[in-house]
Amino acid sequence: MNYAARIARVTARFEELGVQALLITDLDNVAYLTGFTGTNGQVLITQAGAVFYTDPRYGARSRALVRDAEIVMYEARLTDVLRDRLSQGKIERLGFEAASVTVAQRNDFGERLAPAELVTTSGVVEALRRTKEPEEVRLLKEAVRIGDEAFAWVQDRIVPGATEQEVALGLEVHMREAGADAVSFEPIVGSGPLSAHIHHTPSDRSFGKGDLILMDYGCRLQGYCSDLTRTVVLGGASDEQRAVYDTVLAAQAAGIGAVKADARGADVDAAARRVIEDAGHGDAFEHGLGHGVGLEIHEAPRLSRTSEDTLTKGDVVTVEPGIYLEDFGGIRIEDCVLVTAEGCEVLGRAPRDLIEL
Ligand code: ZN
Ligand code: ZN
Repeated sequence: MNYAARIARVTARFEELGVQALLITDLDNVAYLTGFTGTNGQVLITQAGAVFYTDPRYGARSRALVRDAEIVMYEARLTDVLRDRLSQGKIERLGFEAASVTVAQRNDFGERLAPAELVTTSGVVEALRRTKEPEEVRLLKEAVRIGDEAFAWVQDRIVPGATEQEVALGLEVHMREAGADAVSFEPIVGSGPLSAHIHHTPSDRSFGKGDLILMDYGCRLQGYCSDLTRTVVLGGASDEQRAVYDTVLAAQAAGIGAVKADARGADVDAAARRVIEDAGHGDAFEHGLGHGVGLEIHEAPRLSRTSEDTLTKGDVVTVEPGIYLEDFGGIRIEDCVLVTAEGCEVLGRAPRDLIEL
């Protein structure tokens, strides 16, 4: 990854932001700008370059991982080492990331970093992170491939008597054995009526014939997340299950068909939502159509009724319509796609047609 180029893109915005330096405290943004992963790291970006701060627990690790930034260790307070650096650089206006700083930290910075004035910023690095570089796309595709492969593997484990928890654990273990660093979020496995719970926590409910089984899961590979949902039926599908499935599948196709550079997130959502509304299930699709995926499982841009985002080439987003009906259950189909000038490329290969097990 070219960290120096990323840092240069941040400093290019300083004038517009009205800052002479920017303190990065969000750990995903720190990883994006320096390569560091861990639980304590900050980056001070000035026109002179980047300084990475951490504590001695991460000494060897930061020397191994951090590129294109000076490394400074502190034992007690970040503000002590920061204050010296700010006064050396004659920094009078310091930007900070509003979304990752608590009110207590903001007050502490204000007191201890005086006379430097604090300037609120939001979404500066997140905006850069939207546009995936070729190396990032490669890692995302690899993370998606591991998820697809887990879906092929898990189908033999979906049998009468197996539980949601067993399948969730199996998916996690299988993905880690296949090379994933971790899950990108706790897998969702919902069966029967519980599949209608959009963000269900796997329970000890065991599968029975005729159950819808919704699995939403993904993995992390070198920081990059994948996100996949498939819904299958145990035993033959009923006519109603097949009809609802076909509606969700058609909605996803319409959503994927609407994704392209310059499309509005709200319009892409509407393209998929219209299919579900026309089938009479408009009230049963209660969430947005999709979200950006990268170092975070949910990042910019958003595809939803209220989204103000416009897609750009290089965004990676999910397209995940669903219909959730109490007692009947829920069906969601989700894939990650890469936005291109003319349309999009679906990153995964997992089959989307209804699978009856
Ligand atoms: Zn998902
Ligand atoms: Zn998702």
